[in-house]
Amino acid sequence: MRRTVEQFRGSTAMAQVTIRNVKKSFGAVDVIHGVSIDIKDGEFVILVGPSGCGKSTLLRMIAGLEQISAGDIEIGSRVVNDLPPKERDIAMVFQNYALYPHMTVADNMGFSLKLARVSKDEIKTRVARAAEILGLQPLLERYPRQLSGGQRQRVAMGRAIVRDPQVFLFDEPLSNLDAKLRVAMRTEIKELHQRLKTTTIYVTHDQIEAMTMADKIVVMRDGVVEQVGAPLDLYDRPENLFVAGFIGSPS
Ligand code: ADP
Ligand code: MG
Repeated sequence: MRRTVEQFRGSTAMAQVTIRNVKKSFGAVDVIHGVSIDIKDGEFVILVGPSGCGKSTLLRMIAGLEQISAGDIEIGSRVVNDLPPKERDIAMVFQNYALYPHMTVADNMGFSLKLARVSKDEIKTRVARAAEILGLQPLLERYPRQLSGGQRQRVAMGRAIVRDPQVFLFDEPLSNLDAKLRVAMRTEIKELHQRLKTTTIYVTHDQIEAMTMADKIVVMRDGVVEQVGAPLDLYDRPENLFVAGFIGSPS
């Protein structure tokens, strides 16, 4: 069934995501060599691997920001290969989550809904709900420059939550924060997931983030998947030295 952003679910939102033999080339350069991943409804999956291995490219293909060169991507039970981002029922939080400096927190969170012609009342309801979830109620009339780094990060997540998507995509959302805040935000994002149960695909190069947050970890290297498993499985039974080295398991 097709759902648009206007049909607000307001409750648990999930979809399975299936990535089937997906490849990507930029010109003559192959960067993703045939990746398959099954992601279940409501799962929190982390793509991990060294810089340049293709994590962002894969995430951007799921988002529809980058065309795939071969294979299929399904969200829910729809093949989305040719759908533009706004029809994919996803919301993405980037590493550089530029907030609009001239807009209040409330307007930053509601802006994408305004573009989608959601009614003013509905925008207000959704922003209020997201603000409640993220503890942003007291800050709704502030401007980004009046917020701390962690608060800005929460607003960036609020912009994703108001869209009530079936899938959240995070690309290294914590890498610009200091170490202490990063640890706190890990817990917040996990709590958010426990509450909303939205299928989440989260990219990081930080193995501790992966080990502590994921239901399932996908270890990538040079455009291929090396291993997929629950954190403890990877820790206990790495299939090769690369995975062992990356996860930090004694070998
Ligand atoms: P990661 O997010 O894991 O650090 P990326 O997905 O950003 O890796 O990049 C994977 C590879 O694809 C890198 O070699 C990168 O240089 C290349 N790449 C990414 N985007 C483009 C692009 N638009 N044009 C050409 N090459 C690109
Ligand atoms: Mg990246």
